Amino acid sequence: VTSGTQRISTAYRDGTSTALARWAMASNDRYPIIPGPVALHVVRTEGRHLVTADGRRILDAGGGALVTNIGHGRAEVAEVAARAMQQVTYVLPPWPTDARVELVHRVLDEWMPPSITRAGFTSGGSESVDTAIRLARQHHLSAGRRDRWKVIGRRPSYHGVTVASLAVGGHDDRRAGFEPLFPGFPHVPWDDADALDAAIREAGVDTVAAFIAEPIVGSSAGALVADEGYWRRVEEICREHGVLLIVDEVMTGFGRTGRRMGLEHWDIEPDIVVGGKGLSGGYAPIGGVYATDAVVDPIAAAGDSLMFFTYGAQDVACAVASAVLRILDEEDLVARAATQGEALRRRLDDALGDHPHVAEVRGRGLMLGVDLVADRDGDVRFPREAGVFRRVVAESLARDVWIYPSSSGPDAPDAVMFGPAFTVTDEELDTMVEVLVASIDAAVAAFRPG
Ligand code: PMP
Repeated sequence: VTSGTQRISTAYRDGTSTALARWAMASNDRYPIIPGPVALHVVRTEGRHLVTADGRRILDAGGGALVTNIGHGRAEVAEVAARAMQQVTYVLPPWPTDARVELVHRVLDEWMPPSITRAGFTSGGSESVDTAIRLARQHHLSAGRRDRWKVIGRRPSYHGVTVASLAVGGHDDRRAGFEPLFPGFPHVPWDDADALDAAIREAGVDTVAAFIAEPIVGSSAGALVADEGYWRRVEEICREHGVLLIVDEVMTGFGRTGRRMGLEHWDIEPDIVVGGKGLSGGYAPIGGVYATDAVVDPIAAAGDSLMFFTYGAQDVACAVASAVLRILDEEDLVARAATQGEALRRRLDDALGDHPHVAEVRGRGLMLGVDLVADRDGDVRFPREAGVFRRVVAESLARDVWIYPSSSGPDAPDAVMFGPAFTVTDEELDTMVEVLVASIDAAVAAFRPG
């Protein structure tokens, strides 16, 4: 065990592990005032907690990265996985199996708007975004519109780490150094529909395939919610110019915002929806791409292929996702995300409403962001180099609570996000808010000694 642990810490130290581990090490290196390693070796997860090798119980207030909608360690999901693996090991993605057919029906009939009638599955969010971009281009290509290949994204935003999803996303920190990314992926401000209209015209209306946006901007900016009217206008602009609207529900989907899908808050009518995370609540690597008949029909009519990933719609993952969605319904957990979201928001407003370093508490359901500023009254941001949002996360982790960092570059807010399992209790909400307040104070005090 010791050598295993050492190997893991070495990988983290060398920066050879995942992006999160690299981030964690970077923050730890930059802020040696914070005791202990930021990345933890987890030996078990249960309910809303992570249990570490040295016996700590970390409250998972971020749900990892807003993933664990039903919480950790549900035995009935493990049983479904074991049975599914015994029934089917591997079948090519385009072929129907019981698990795939059940999941397609469940997602389309029970979670998507009625106009969304087609489904395909991948191994996660980035693959789904990448597939949606390719689907939009294939749609136009099959219909004979060869020049419609550009995809417009927003800033800030986050859509994933495949090269195409990184390029269409507006997460400056994660893009840094990778330019040139794909050309032809212009970005518009996240809250400005008129800028979208102008960008489409500037790019050349007949060259734009699609526009992609998150219902609520997540990882890159701490749960930004656009003004009333924004989405209606975006739909009008996309329809007027023949541009497909792709809604990225990877973070907002499957109950996270207190509605079944994030788009329900504004009755958004997308052409393509992508999802991941909550589809399986962390129990299996699976994401999905969902579309209208109108998107898929020209492709089918032309006899063109959509291609697939070897592990697309992997059978055990499909069975697990169905089990997780069933639990959400049987236990009425979407309604609980709404009520516990309100309860968390009330606590945050009470504790931080007048805090000098909190500009805003925002979001929907159990996707809530806290925007950190140097001076609330003067609307002054902390210097970027201070990495205040990372300090707050590290301080919280030192107090055994994981809060999700969400910021993306010099122009984006310094924010943190709460995204716990929908089963979160009132006592756990109390702890989360108490620890956040203490962590903000500690992070700011360290930043401004004396
Ligand atoms: N889109 C959005 C809106 C996301 O929040 C994320 C993950 N944070 C992704 C795409 C990428 O998903 P994944 O990490 O599963 O590839």
